[in-house]
Amino acid sequence: MGHGVLSETVDAISELHLHGVPLVVTSPTPNDVAGKRVVAQFEEEGIAVETVVIKEASFASVQRVIEVAREVDAGYLVGVGGGKAIDIAKMASDEIKRGFVSIPTAASHDGIVSGRGSVPEKNTRHSVAAEPPLAVVADTEILADAPWRLTTAGCADIISNYTAVKDWRLANRLQNVEYSGYSAALAEMTAEMLVDNAESIKPGLEESAWVVTKALVSSGVAMSIAGSSRPASGAEHLFSHQLDRIAPGAALHGHQVGVGSIITEYLHGGNWQGIRDALATIGAPTTADGLEIDGKTVVEALTTAHEIRDRYTILGNGMNEAAAIEAATTTNVI
Ligand SMILES: [Zn+2]
Repeated sequence: MGHGVLSETVDAISELHLHGVPLVVTSPTPNDVAGKRVVAQFEEEGIAVETVVIKEASFASVQRVIEVAREVDAGYLVGVGGGKAIDIAKMASDEIKRGFVSIPTAASHDGIVSGRGSVPEKNTRHSVAAEPPLAVVADTEILADAPWRLTTAGCADIISNYTAVKDWRLANRLQNVEYSGYSAALAEMTAEMLVDNAESIKPGLEESAWVVTKALVSSGVAMSIAGSSRPASGAEHLFSHQLDRIAPGAALHGHQVGVGSIITEYLHGGNWQGIRDALATIGAPTTADGLEIDGKTVVEALTTAHEIRDRYTILGNGMNEAAAIEAATTTNVI
């Protein structure tokens, strides 16, 4: 991680002793920003390299990458992108049992380092287990240049670790869900580090991109230690997945989980004002208006979020409508 490290990509990869043809998996904008430079580096070193450019996040794209990888007999995959291309490279590499390297071009969510991939399908999102990356090449010069809202989304995704860990402990106490104190402490410390630096996280500052990316990497490590997304994904994520279903494409993942975190921290009886203030300082949304989602949709997502997957959280068997309205209005989300 650092300024200009993209130019050291091939060196970093050579330390991994991977064999065979690298397949660069990218999407149009990240390809212009970084993908083509990575390909040129391989070629300069006399390494034959293949590229596949995907346009949308879907299972069809994962399938296409798998087909291309088999056609060219790829030795490993190199995901270059904001999230979409990396998620797809990660899922494809898991399927074909090849390693993968992550080159994020935006610090928008912790998927850039985690062992989970998620793609939308019909009106829902599927999150599946995948291999974590063998290496991450994070060039802060490129990351600082990404649209600012993507970075604030990454920040909010990290701040949500607070409530994710609370849900994990609750599930451990009530349902005997496997828990790792080490992983939980790392996830919380990561959120703490970000909140402590919230004042210095500002658009255009490369230092900010560095702080956020470092936090995303630690968050991914916490998930790898836990062997699940528990340390970084609780009820606030269920709420966000449900919003994706009801109001697809309305807001960024990180922004949705941030707002979800304000509400679930309130449900835990914790310092929800602290979460709200940290989000506001960074410039992430703290209300339904900020997400450009109406109050009715927020209430619907809150009352149905517990159904989305078998993950025990503070939502328990679900909130009723009156309780959801109460929680959302008390926290000024609606
Ligand atoms: Zn997330």
